[in-house]
Amino acid sequence: MSIPIASPDIGLGGLTRVIESVESGRLADGPAVRAFESAFADHCGTAHAVATSNGTTALHAALHGLGIGPGDRVVTTPFSFVATANAVRLCGAEPVFADVDPETLNVDPGAVRDAVEARDGDVSAILPVHLYGLPARMDGLRSIADEHDVPLIEDAAQAHGATLSGEPVGSLGDAACFSFYPTKNMTTGEGGIVVTDDRTVADRVARFVNHGRTGPNDHASVGHNFRLTSLGAAIGREQLGRLEDFIAVRRRNAAAYDEVLTDHPAIDAPPDPDGARHAYHQYTVQCAERDALRRHLADAGVDAGIYYPTPIHRQPAYADVEVDAPVAERAADRVLSIPVHPDLSRDDVESVCAALAGFDP
Ligand SMILES: *Cc1c(COP(=O)(O)O)cnc(C)c1O
Repeated sequence: MSIPIASPDIGLGGLTRVIESVESGRLADGPAVRAFESAFADHCGTAHAVATSNGTTALHAALHGLGIGPGDRVVTTPFSFVATANAVRLCGAEPVFADVDPETLNVDPGAVRDAVEARDGDVSAILPVHLYGLPARMDGLRSIADEHDVPLIEDAAQAHGATLSGEPVGSLGDAACFSFYPTKNMTTGEGGIVVTDDRTVADRVARFVNHGRTGPNDHASVGHNFRLTSLGAAIGREQLGRLEDFIAVRRRNAAAYDEVLTDHPAIDAPPDPDGARHAYHQYTVQCAERDALRRHLADAGVDAGIYYPTPIHRQPAYADVEVDAPVAERAADRVLSIPVHPDLSRDDVESVCAALAGFDP
């Protein structure tokens, strides 16, 4: 058995409590969902939260809630899961890809500024991703968003539990979106959430994910069914109570890998910049001999993953987008994610450390 890249056990320790909490009989919507929304808003320090069916629908609903639609341009990163860009297109808007920083692999504020200025400021939103759980450079992005009076939306699907200058991810933009897919930092099965301080945006999102409903039989606008189930919400509450512990273990595992990689001749550890608390959704190294490293780890029984082997603008679905993103393209050939999830045993972590130390291309 190899050491898996993602945890097969999502940690449903409190299954009894989960089931009790939906015993109201409301399997859809209902009090369990409202309770989870309010707990997650408290966690982020935001005034509002609207739960959704997954992270992609959270992004779609948040963009819609902020008024993004056909004809709009949204500046985002080409180095993310494809859902980030898909959400933009699903709103009828077009993604504009700005290249990433070579170390953090998060969108580079300088590249975002260039992308905005190249279009004479004619963009409608900025959508950074906190890739692998490391917060994006929100200070630089905030200045650009304010100068052009456009909203800044966090794709925080990988960053539950991360902080920047002590502030939780989710409170750093005009709205933020999370995914609760089983491999993320916490889960509801399938699920997602939008958080915001803006009442109007929260109301628009809540309506959009529930058939445009304003009353039991009143539909003020066109909407989807993007709702989270009660069972998912009950699992989410249980998981949220354990998030700090999950992140502490991820960070402890990461610290063990950092130590091995400090002076490693061939492998660069991921950055953990001052002022940010990296959530280590992934522990992603960079290595010129990436494929050899992956084979070496597989031989040692360590399952490593490549997130992402193809930047979004190189996917056939985005072949029509014109973009210059050499840093993202180089990163796609160099990144390798090492198992860091909280279900690793101490022995697993030691085996990974030994395998990393023993790599000599
Ligand atoms: C997982 C993920 C999403 C989409 O979330 P789903 O719940 O899978 O729909 C969006 N953006 C990023 C960066 C992700 O990692």
